[in-house]
Amino acid sequence: MKSNKETFDAIIVGSGIGGLVTASQLAAKGAKVLVLEKYIIPGGSGGSFKRKGYTFDVGASMIFGFGNKGYTNLLTRALRDVNEFCETIPDPVQLEYHLPNNFCISVDRKYEKFIGKLIQRFPHEQEGIKKFYGTCEKVFNCLDSMPLLSIEDPSYLFKVFLKAPLSCLGLARWLPVNAGDVARKFIKDQELLKFIDIECFCWSVMPAIKTPMINAGMVFTDRHAGGINYPKGGVGKIAEKLVSGIERLGSKVRYRANVTQILLENEKAIGVKLSTGEEIFSDVVVSNSTRWDTFGLNGNKKGLIKSDYVPKVEYKWSKTYKPSPSFVSLHLGVSKKIIDDSLNCHHIIVDDWDELENEKGVIFISIPTLLDPSLAPEGKHIIHAFTPSSIYEWDSLSRDDYLDKKQKYYLYLIKKISNIIPNLEENIEHKEIGTPRTHRKFLGRFEGSYGPIPNKKLLGLLPMPFNSTRIENLFCVGDSCFPGQGLNAVAFSGYACAHKIGSKLNINSFKLPD
Ligand SMILES: Cc1cc2nc3c(=O)[nH]c(=O)nc-3n(C[C@H](O)[C@H](O)[C@H](O)COP(=O)(O)OP(=O)(O)OC[C@H]3O[C@@H](n4cnc5c(N)ncnc54)[C@H](O)[C@@H]3O)c2cc1C
Repeated sequence: MKSNKETFDAIIVGSGIGGLVTASQLAAKGAKVLVLEKYIIPGGSGGSFKRKGYTFDVGASMIFGFGNKGYTNLLTRALRDVNEFCETIPDPVQLEYHLPNNFCISVDRKYEKFIGKLIQRFPHEQEGIKKFYGTCEKVFNCLDSMPLLSIEDPSYLFKVFLKAPLSCLGLARWLPVNAGDVARKFIKDQELLKFIDIECFCWSVMPAIKTPMINAGMVFTDRHAGGINYPKGGVGKIAEKLVSGIERLGSKVRYRANVTQILLENEKAIGVKLSTGEEIFSDVVVSNSTRWDTFGLNGNKKGLIKSDYVPKVEYKWSKTYKPSPSFVSLHLGVSKKIIDDSLNCHHIIVDDWDELENEKGVIFISIPTLLDPSLAPEGKHIIHAFTPSSIYEWDSLSRDDYLDKKQKYYLYLIKKISNIIPNLEENIEHKEIGTPRTHRKFLGRFEGSYGPIPNKKLLGLLPMPFNSTRIENLFCVGDSCFPGQGLNAVAFSGYACAHKIGSKLNINSFKLPD
């Protein structure tokens, strides 16, 4: 099956937020694009699925970049650029930590309140706390004062330097730095340094010493500036609305469209082949699949690029970064009566600091119905909980052993969550348990991984690849690209990718965005 009757300026493989922001930005610039998604809903790890009257978030539920000021609110801006808007519910608290040694603290939207509580616990570190979080704010202010587009485009860099020279120099300074180095400069208390570790781990899945300072500056400040805002109707609304915007502009999104190969001719990308045998052609192909899935790295035999054509630099990348563990996740529908309305929406439990990076070392819990009751039937709440787990724990199990292990993890999670929500087990009305195998299958991600993490300590964000690849006309977008994981980060990657392609297609506006 060959050839498309319709022509497309770009084909985007995957409808994760990175892929959809690339597509929507290109559509907004006047390009005609085709998004091919192998699953039945858009959004990837940032999607939502419905069961028995519940709307469950697949993965992401603590949303940054959804404020309405500055330049870092990329989700708000991406929707606005295609004439879409998502109603949001402000979360008064980013999350509540339940840590060893009875250390419990919530991160309030109000910066002073949070910092005050932290100083109360570590009075001897008052100055260090202020200096660390103050430095994060400086990084954020640099980011927030410049329109964020492709760092690969020299003409953009020149224009943005003229507009905000000090911010550009400020950012260049922090690009090779990790948050742990900055924390250690200002803070000596070991428990406080562990706290900075979990502050980073909860979104980067790495301790502070491996977490780039640019990302830390963004996250630790945006939660107080734009704040954490939950999309009304579930996180999947962001993807759904981006799809509406894309389609209204005459571009297309196809589901159940599993791309099995990126077609090359004379070492240039010329289109894609689907599992049905259909071939679709375009001069620009963007992969929103992970780098391991795109290039068949780490022994992945299902890469989209034939092994003879995989650029050497991609093998080098796979030595620099490794896949983070996947998750075991629970999606529960529970009786409303067991959850007090005053409980915070997001919680993290760590029982032992030494287990932080290990299997089941951290438990993440969200109760999004505390913010948006419409996600569950009357009288019910949703609990979404997950804990890191490696695919190697699950891969070669027999069916019985697999089900047995699933049940053990389920009981483990229920026991831990019951410390925050008593009487949980007897009040569960609906449950879904996902393992790393589930995540690999339904999210289409290598080993079900959350995303790439450095193999060793690196120089901040410097080694992270941008959107161009060594294969002409092939671009990558999403969490295997600069600046990494998280919905706002992959939205940045989408903006940058669309800008880079826009300059190739000559459709970029000369003016920087307002
Ligand atoms: C459990 C969990 C919790 C998280 N919590 C948060 C959070 O609270 N806040 C936050 O900001 N981030 C969170 N994240 C991270 C965030 O969700 C991801 O970093 C982000 O969604 C990744 O987006 P992406 O564009 O890289 O693509 P993905 O979300 O990976 O989507 C890629 C899409 O491409 C499709 N695809 C892949 N290969 C093909 C192919 N060959 N053909 C067709 N389609 C294909 C997939 O089906 C998928 O839909 C969480 C992630 C997980 C897993």
